[in-house]
Amino acid sequence: MSTRTNASKYAVFPNLDERAGFENFYGIDSSTGKITMRQGTDRVFVFSAKGWSVLVRRICSSFDSGADVIFFEMGQHYGSSIALGVKNEGADYERSIRRLIQRAIFSGWGKVSVSGNLPSGKNLALRLDGCVFCDGRKSSKPSCNFFRGILSGIAQTLYGRSFKVIEEQCIASGNQCCKFVLEEDPYSVYRIEPVIDI
Ligand SMILES: [Zn+2]
Repeated sequence: MSTRTNASKYAVFPNLDERAGFENFYGIDSSTGKITMRQGTDRVFVFSAKGWSVLVRRICSSFDSGADVIFFEMGQHYGSSIALGVKNEGADYERSIRRLIQRAIFSGWGKVSVSGNLPSGKNLALRLDGCVFCDGRKSSKPSCNFFRGILSGIAQTLYGRSFKVIEEQCIASGNQCCKFVLEEDPYSVYRIEPVIDI
């Protein structure tokens, strides 16, 4: 396995101007009740961490280990749609990653830092401090399957190939933060363009 010593670390908010930019990120239209993102026109809604925690617990008790797959798939589709939006803006990788991190912060997921070779997609790792997805949860194993799916969807959309996303550490299982590594899937069957059979 290759070393990560040359990995570039990305500070999430290097300057205070961005931190203060929350109201510049979303707009609320009181006449329609809609909240939209200022960059683009995506409509969003707010979901409480407590509500999410209850939902995860219920789905896990109904579907047992199948719940991991359900949340992973949900995250994967969501991650793909976010990355597709950013990609369609035509930004380079560094700018795209920066926009995605910004999106994560303004979505309240936690404090994200990314390391690895972003242009090539090699040795990618991500740390999430204060992860909202396992907020208030206790689990014997890493359990942020929804976020794992988001990362998978984002990575495969950005790089055009599949990655195995492994959650190495999880706050729910007693670690300080949630940590993920992205390993290229050598058996990737993912294609950006749909394959049309003639
Ligand atoms: Zn976690």
